[in-house]
Amino acid sequence: MNARHEDIDLIDNCLHLGNRLVATDVCKLFARKITDVLTVMDEPIDVDKRIAGIRYHHIDAEDNARQDLLTHFDNTYDIIDGCRQLGHSVLVHCRAGVSRSAAVVIAYLMRKRQLPFHDALELVRNCRPIIRPNEGFMDQLRLFERMDYRLNANDRQFRQWLWRLCANRDRLDYYYERRTVAEWMTPGLHWGQQLVCADCEFALFSQIHINSDFDEMYGSGAAPVTGLVNNQRIYIEPKEWMAELSAPDHSYGFIKCRCDAIVAEYELLTPYEDPLVANPLSSKHQCFKIRLMRGQTFRDQITDTKGGNRRGIRTSFNASKEF
Ligand SMILES: [Zn+2]
Repeated sequence: MNARHEDIDLIDNCLHLGNRLVATDVCKLFARKITDVLTVMDEPIDVDKRIAGIRYHHIDAEDNARQDLLTHFDNTYDIIDGCRQLGHSVLVHCRAGVSRSAAVVIAYLMRKRQLPFHDALELVRNCRPIIRPNEGFMDQLRLFERMDYRLNANDRQFRQWLWRLCANRDRLDYYYERRTVAEWMTPGLHWGQQLVCADCEFALFSQIHINSDFDEMYGSGAAPVTGLVNNQRIYIEPKEWMAELSAPDHSYGFIKCRCDAIVAEYELLTPYEDPLVANPLSSKHQCFKIRLMRGQTFRDQITDTKGGNRRGIRTSFNASKEF
């Protein structure tokens, strides 16, 4: 075996990076006084292979460019730092200790030491030369740096990245879940104005959901919700209530509010045959375009530090009931 292909390497005080084998190697774990193991793989360590006295943590992740690690970095930081604060030694590992777990350790050091991505990468590489996070993880670590080492759902580049990564019917639920996590983790989330159904006042979407593709088409600056008029076409992030998007074989159609009123026409646009199969590495838009079809009302949505929705004041009315 190449001498550089170690099972496990010490990266920082109490912080180890290694492969799958070492996670169940009682001698190596005890020799390094490791009390906690963080597994970054699609499967957790089998219960019957776990070593008594060791706490096992698991982040579900595959090693490919379409895997999201970024929205887990706050959680993995808390796990690693929680161990270190208690003076415990922790092992972060994946199958080879090269890509997934390396990315998690790099993200941890970036936030802990406020290090730019490249500096943290070099720091880890000095201790474990075989690390090589895949291209998708490298992009995510750069985005993590851009967001000052914390999830920031106000960051349009982050929102667009998440949608491009997940723009696939099979991944819509994951997308909604991770977007919600990011929004809850973001202090002072700016929802902007809210657009509500004219019939039932259900909140359809907010300014924050208007895709930045809008900016590219219509100039810079946040798209004003109150500037929207019926029949205008806009690009927005999908919302959980849009049941039509989960239906197979439809790339366009009508969107109904929960009250059954038709509120918009939608069209899913990608350069690919299946409108919802996206390539996250492509710079092409994975667009979700809607045309507002019915009178909606707009109201201010008050920024909430916990990311929750608080109802605000209706600011204008733009109804067109003759649809
Ligand atoms: Zn409604």
